[in-house]
Amino acid sequence: MSVAVVGGGWAGLAAAAELTDRGIGVTLFEAAPQWGGRARRCLVQLGDTEIALDNGQHLMLGAYSECLRQIGRVSRPAGDLAGAAPGPRQSAAGRSPAPFLRTRMHIATPDGVLLRRTSWPGTAGVIGGLLGTGVLSAGERWALVRFLVALRWRGWHGFDGLTVSQLLARFRQPEPLVRRLWEPLCIAAMNTEIGAACAQTFVTVLRDSLGAGADASDFITPVSTLGALFPEPAADWLQRHGARLNLRTTVRAIAPADATGSAWRVQATGPGGAVADGEEFAALIMAVPPPNAARLLQELAPGVAARLGEFEFDTIATVYLGWRDDPGLMPVTMLAEDAGRGHFGQWLFARGAQHGWHVGAVVVSAQGRRAAVVPSELARQVAAQAAEQLRLPLASATRVIVEKRATWRCLPTRPLLGPDACTQEGARLRRLWLAGDHACPDRYPATLEGAVRSGVAAARGVAELLALATGPA
Ligand SMILES: Cc1cc2nc3c(=O)[nH]c(=O)nc-3n(C[C@H](O)[C@H](O)[C@H](O)COP(=O)(O)OP(=O)(O)OC[C@H]3O[C@@H](n4cnc5c(N)ncnc54)[C@H](O)[C@@H]3O)c2cc1C
Repeated sequence: MSVAVVGGGWAGLAAAAELTDRGIGVTLFEAAPQWGGRARRCLVQLGDTEIALDNGQHLMLGAYSECLRQIGRVSRPAGDLAGAAPGPRQSAAGRSPAPFLRTRMHIATPDGVLLRRTSWPGTAGVIGGLLGTGVLSAGERWALVRFLVALRWRGWHGFDGLTVSQLLARFRQPEPLVRRLWEPLCIAAMNTEIGAACAQTFVTVLRDSLGAGADASDFITPVSTLGALFPEPAADWLQRHGARLNLRTTVRAIAPADATGSAWRVQATGPGGAVADGEEFAALIMAVPPPNAARLLQELAPGVAARLGEFEFDTIATVYLGWRDDPGLMPVTMLAEDAGRGHFGQWLFARGAQHGWHVGAVVVSAQGRRAAVVPSELARQVAAQAAEQLRLPLASATRVIVEKRATWRCLPTRPLLGPDACTQEGARLRRLWLAGDHACPDRYPATLEGAVRSGVAAARGVAELLALATGPA
């Protein structure tokens, strides 16, 4: 019997790869026509050209150790992948076959460099990077360092129930520093405004990036598309290693095959009708977003289903801008957000030259700030903002992609669920595991790293159970 994995986003693919690597058979079901879920390749129309980009601009960090390990595994035989930690860092000019660009953290703004990291470890690297940056005043730089040192001294925990605003007030962070740095970082990391976002999760993010080794805050972006970074090579790798892959196949119901839950059945429909009808699976990993998981679990695990139903979601819009002539974009620029002036853009990423276009991607997170603006107007305003703030020519083509349920709101009150949440609801459910960015054992915000860590944790849990069941008596 193989293990059924429902959902072919980054969590499901990571779970499937981890099981396959351990010699356990996998059958993967994905409802969409492609792999990758919320982080996938997407064709974007710029002017009269269709360009392969992403459904939304993503940024990974050097701290995404599990993502890098998974990417390294499925990208072999390149084998020498830099960045599949440890390894030399990549730059745009690098010749390595790595499917990502990796650069030392460097946050440029229209007013100059806001924050950068030197190679010194921990907070020392932040202090070193602050020397010579001109956007923050000396007092603000001192407040920043004081804050990081205080968090480290407290072991990076003890902030449950607080919002990020309350945390920053408790550590007397000056208003300009909050506005210029902490608020944009919070929205970028958690897609939740500081007045509502979970302080403890924000502190965890700071611990694993600015508070960790020099490479942990490196910026990592795909060389071509998110699909080519992990989902597509992962699917190839899985196929080559004997996994059974079903795209365009929706799992409509799941049920234990017997009273003890020692095997599972799925009711799935693909393009040709029922898939895996009557087949029994040794275990099941449910790697679908909370509302989908809640529906499938309603009868079987009502307690878990109810908690999954408590997640709230927020939008992320990506505005692609196209120029015919090279506008000379920095790899990553933090824009000055000013919703009152229609300046909704928060970050601008250079996406290189493709099919005669020089492409930039502007991220607009946290829905509340631009709720009433229609996509065409958002594109117009963001293009004008980039032109004004960075003194660029106006982009001659724009395209907006809005992901309505991009990520769950990272509130202090959100449900905390681990991959083994169902197993705790009854012995019959011990072979039913959760994966997905909402089930990360490390309490990360909704991120690729959270998704991948949850998938790996679920796969390991299942592998241990199966080993116990088949091991020597
Ligand atoms: C626009 C945008 C920008 C983002 N930016 C960042 C960023 O910069 N950095 C970062 O780390 N993260 C970012 N994220 C978050 C990141 O994309 C997600 O956390 C991650 O992709 C979640 O992966 P997942 O596998 O948990 O879920 P999903 O990607 O949602 O995968 C679940 C899969 O299950 C499938 N499915 C659902 N129901 C069924 C069913 N019944 N049967 C079969 N299949 C089913 C779905 O089709 C989907 O493919 C961003 C997200 C968006 C949308």
